[in-house]
Amino acid sequence: MRFLSVLGILVSVLGGARGVQAHLIEDADYQEMKRQAVAHQDAPPRAAEPFLKFPESALVNWDESYLYVGSDGMPAHPMMVGITAWQQQVPLPQSYYGKNAWSIPLHPVPAAEGISAKTNFFRGAIAVAANGIPIFNPIKNDGKTDTFLAGELDQYGGHAGRADDYHYHVAPWHLSEKLGPNLPLALALDGYPIYGLNEPDGSPTTGLDSFHGHTNAMGDYHYHASRSYPYINGGFHGQVSVQGGGVDPQPNATPVREATAPLPGAKITGFEASPDQNKYRIEYEHGGKKGSVAYQVFGNRQVQFTFTQPDGTTREQTGVQGRPSRGGDRPPEGSKGDPKEGRGPPRENDPNRKPWIENHLSEMDSDRNGKLSQEEMMAEVKKVFEGYDGNDDGKITEKEANERGVHSAMAGFIRQHFAEVDVDRDGAVSLQELKDTAMRMWEKYIGESDRGSKRTAPPSHQP
Ligand SMILES: [Zn+2]
Ligand SMILES: [Zn+2]
Repeated sequence: MRFLSVLGILVSVLGGARGVQAHLIEDADYQEMKRQAVAHQDAPPRAAEPFLKFPESALVNWDESYLYVGSDGMPAHPMMVGITAWQQQVPLPQSYYGKNAWSIPLHPVPAAEGISAKTNFFRGAIAVAANGIPIFNPIKNDGKTDTFLAGELDQYGGHAGRADDYHYHVAPWHLSEKLGPNLPLALALDGYPIYGLNEPDGSPTTGLDSFHGHTNAMGDYHYHASRSYPYINGGFHGQVSVQGGGVDPQPNATPVREATAPLPGAKITGFEASPDQNKYRIEYEHGGKKGSVAYQVFGNRQVQFTFTQPDGTTREQTGVQGRPSRGGDRPPEGSKGDPKEGRGPPRENDPNRKPWIENHLSEMDSDRNGKLSQEEMMAEVKKVFEGYDGNDDGKITEKEANERGVHSAMAGFIRQHFAEVDVDRDGAVSLQELKDTAMRMWEKYIGESDRGSKRTAPPSHQP
């Protein structure tokens, strides 16, 4: 993957710190937020101080009213290890930047009547940790399960949610070493800070209210985290706007697949991330055997999963973040033919075989309307052709096809079906030959499924 290794070098030059990820380079919201943050002439507000200790994962920006905290939702520590009640989700980078960043009031205002988190706020975050990772209510969205006691959390107090979004449910104690005693572990979304067990001056904490906070001698309110419930702020002393059972606004996570089911009896035992932070592997034990989920995140927010089940079978899935993935699942290895064939062209004689376009629809459907238009098909052809034709002579030789890594749905297709696409058998695929093949596949897709249309509907938003 030459493209990715070039990005990797760029990242290490620009980023320096670990945790800066290749996909950020292409994230427009990140770039814009970063540009604004760097352009500030005024000093950051005091509320920004804890986040500035974690520049590898938190990005701050501010205006007169709000502190904006951006992150990709991926802390610089191993994730998921120690979970004994696993929903089969894994941490995927998110884009909590720009308009999708956390907004925290810089001038918190006490509410006339606070709201308890015991009976509210089961949706979304209630605080943001100093490293930019959201903290959800310790009680999960069924309104009764204590996530910590239920074994749902890893050794850092977090786990991946339904959108494969990582978040904590208890206080991020591990951040205290870097923060020191004077800085809070997190800010609650009403704007009040959350300190550790003791006061910033080291003295013991006394006189906490039902939300686990109090007002100090200076007249400033703050919360204290705890080792048992409420773990974090037990509600909001300050004003927040509430919508749909959560603090509003909340950044959106970008799911890549349908929510997965619990796997009772599984225990997560290992987490690995590649040095450039785009390949991950989670290992678990189930019934005395090991299974794993390996996945890779590409710059275009495409994710490729390989699931190795404890019985030894494997399954792959591909999707693009932003909506649940359709298709892309492949049969278990060895069950039927070569699983790599799943990436090939349609095979008419196999009734279980989904047409290639349907398997790769999510990767090519750039307006995300669930259909592949002729224009989208041709855009893919153009992209893959420009990527492969290294010497720009208008032809892709077999050597070019095998040497250059182009990340697109069609790239693997060309490699595997070079001879079929090279209709005139001159040893090279011309743009016309690729277009003709693509059009034949597209017409077949339209004819069979009646799903495509030259006139594409406006994109629909998936939560
Ligand atoms: Zn959760
Ligand atoms: Zn205090």
